[in-house]
Amino acid sequence: MRVLKFGGSSLASAERFVQVANIVKNESLSSAVAIVVSAPQGVTNHLVAMAENIADEKKLQTDLAHFKSAIETIISDLSASLADFDSHHAEQTLKNWEQQLARYMQGANMLSYCPDHIRAVIISVGERLSVAILDSVLKSYDINVSLIEPEKFLRTNDVSLNALADLVLCKEKFLCQYNNLNRVALMPGFIGVNSNGQVTTLGRNGSDYSAAVLAVCAQAQCCEIWTDVNGVYNADPRLIKDARLLDYLSYQEAMELSYFGASVLHPKTIGPIAQYHIPCLIKNTGNPEAKGTLISNENDQSKQVKAISNLDNLTMVNVSGPGMKGMVGMASRVFATMSRENISIVLISQSSSEYCISFCIHSADADLAAESLKQEFELELLNGLLEPLDLQSDLSIVSLVGDGMHHQQGVAAKFFSSLAQARVNVIAIAQDSSERSISVVIEKRKCTDALKVSHQNFFSHKPTIDVFMVGCGVVGSELIAQIARQQPKLRAQNISLRVYGIANSKGMVFDKEGIDLDNWQQLLGQSPVPVTAENIKAFVRDNHLINPVLVDSTSNEQLAMSYVDFIEQGFHVVTPNKKANTDSWQYYQAIRAATQKTNRRFLYETTVGAGLPVIDTLQSLIKAGDELVRFEGILSGSLSYIFGKLEEGMSLSQATAIAKENGFTEPDPRDDLSGMDVARKLLIMAREAGMPLELSDITIESVLPSDFDDSGDVSSFMNNLASLDDDFSQRVEQAQSQGKVLRYIGNIVEGKCQVSIEAVDSAHPLYAIKDGENALAIHSRYYQPLPFVLRGYGAGAEVTAAGVFGDLLRTLAWEQQH
Ligand code: ADP
Ligand code: ASP
Ligand code: MG
Repeated sequence: MRVLKFGGSSLASAERFVQVANIVKNESLSSAVAIVVSAPQGVTNHLVAMAENIADEKKLQTDLAHFKSAIETIISDLSASLADFDSHHAEQTLKNWEQQLARYMQGANMLSYCPDHIRAVIISVGERLSVAILDSVLKSYDINVSLIEPEKFLRTNDVSLNALADLVLCKEKFLCQYNNLNRVALMPGFIGVNSNGQVTTLGRNGSDYSAAVLAVCAQAQCCEIWTDVNGVYNADPRLIKDARLLDYLSYQEAMELSYFGASVLHPKTIGPIAQYHIPCLIKNTGNPEAKGTLISNENDQSKQVKAISNLDNLTMVNVSGPGMKGMVGMASRVFATMSRENISIVLISQSSSEYCISFCIHSADADLAAESLKQEFELELLNGLLEPLDLQSDLSIVSLVGDGMHHQQGVAAKFFSSLAQARVNVIAIAQDSSERSISVVIEKRKCTDALKVSHQNFFSHKPTIDVFMVGCGVVGSELIAQIARQQPKLRAQNISLRVYGIANSKGMVFDKEGIDLDNWQQLLGQSPVPVTAENIKAFVRDNHLINPVLVDSTSNEQLAMSYVDFIEQGFHVVTPNKKANTDSWQYYQAIRAATQKTNRRFLYETTVGAGLPVIDTLQSLIKAGDELVRFEGILSGSLSYIFGKLEEGMSLSQATAIAKENGFTEPDPRDDLSGMDVARKLLIMAREAGMPLELSDITIESVLPSDFDDSGDVSSFMNNLASLDDDFSQRVEQAQSQGKVLRYIGNIVEGKCQVSIEAVDSAHPLYAIKDGENALAIHSRYYQPLPFVLRGYGAGAEVTAAGVFGDLLRTLAWEQQH
């Protein structure tokens, strides 16, 4: 014989009852079956609410009505859909229980109290009704079932609402009572009976346990738990989209997983079936063909970590104080108090100084725990031997489970670094001595993040980059195009890079599945919301994105000033925007401090030399102990282009106009010609080299003379520019007469930064640099007498976007970088 248990989710509607009946019919062809049923989904909750609200007539009536209508709907839908279904028996059972419930409620109301053994009867009515309904459905299939009454054999202790079965006694009684069952037998789950003959319940979700007890009593060859998922997954499939189905679990693994929150199986279920070596199969009622998960003695040791689970709504109790130290028996008094109140302790940790005992309990027990501990330790609290009790609520436990973790090194390290990556603070840690599980206590609000990153690092090995693009001018839109083009390659490398938000000056669009990058312009035109840090942060929080990256492709100052805030909220920041790095030295340091604190990255390779690897190279040199002695470079693609054209005989105004047309300049060429852009780049270089300078410390020779009128809009400025043409032509000619060319050069010499127009001869390394090229000559302690030279296009949407893209990918490697 086999035991088949159908949970509330499998009995939530008439349609599901029919599914269940079909499975029963089918499965009973191969062996006798004993069916254990839960209440239809949600029904027990209404009954529990009724028992809890006996004094609140209105609430009571609402819950009663919900309960009734849930059952009536199932019955009437079955009558409508099944030709031979006789609803009479089920309706009558409902009526009887309704009357009984009314009587209990009345009695409890008079007492203003509902005793636990009455409560047990009330909350288990749903199971009785499931039996009545399924019995009638099976009758309509011409299947005659034997009814098994738990009151006749399922003997438990006296804990009315969370009872434990006495297996030996149960087995004995069962064999006496039920030695001649039909091929199909049916029993309500959740229900037991104590030695006084009073009904007990086996704890919420306890029907799984009923099935296990019945499997032992009936010496079943298998205990099957039929539910609404294909089996046990390596993480809660509601929280982890790519959770994987497990084919096998050992009893111990299943025990740890269910204990630490995998609600697919009640933790008490495993004890009986493991003791009697009964295999347990988890199957999907909605998909009977799926193989399911087998829990048995067998185990494949191939995987170190099998699964991750989470248990929510916990409270941590801390008992501490000088009186704890060395006092024999304190821990035992703490735990005896909990046991007296029937409060189960989920996890314990003690500090080695013995100053503090901390343990987790379910939050529902927190008030009772606090009250009873206060009573127990009244004197110690009064005398200051104990600190006032400290309770921390809204906690979760996340556990790694796997038999293969035994004697394996590095699992805990990987777990903790995953938690750090998800920016989760670990409040307490516990590992069972068999090394089958490692558990951490964390804040509940961080639980999904912790699960996601751990699942990613242990199982899916698919790191994510969650991008928010602010600014989609030339660089921004090119970057989006490059990301779209690169998707197949990223996928092949198992990297998930999604753009969740795109913003321009009009607003921002979000998509929690990732924005369709072939269509973003249109989407952005539709219904953008304001680009606020709060909107972006809320999106990340709500969707539990674990590797968010803010890509700032604007030159906006305000956004740059919010980087610290973003980084503190767990974002990486990637940007070609120079504003943040050239604000005050204090802000510059504040950004670095924030990245240190949060393990996030601030990447700005493209702020100097566009896509050329300038910053990274300089950083590596400095980290390796090198020192910047002198620097000179052409740092502006637009001025490189313009000065190259001057050399060819073009006028300043013409060269600038062509540069502008070709997209080499900033939208307003004054930004380039004023020298400010180069000055900012130079400042960034200087600061990288450890010089605490400010922008005001940089001497700037503007291309535009100080008496030049640079006011007005861009086109009038461009017109005025012609007035400088003659003067520049003369300077160019003069230089040429000495075999030199004019270059716009940034220098760092003896701690001083200067940006100026220089005439250089053919021996100079910057002589040949034109047409938009950049060149940087780094003279350092290691690179001398010849400098380290970087050369290449230092402007242009493609190279800049590619540089930003490179930075984006570096957010993956954050672990190695810190
Ligand atoms: P039933 O009504 O059949 O008793 P439950 O709701 O008690 O069903 O348990 C099934 C649910 O357990 C699944 O729908 C799933 O959301 C949840 N669950 C949590 N963790 C896991 C896991 N690791 N594997 C499978 N399901 C899980
Ligand atoms: N119906 C009970 C509950 O909801 C028992 C069960 O479903 O297993 O807790
Ligand atoms: Mg369940």
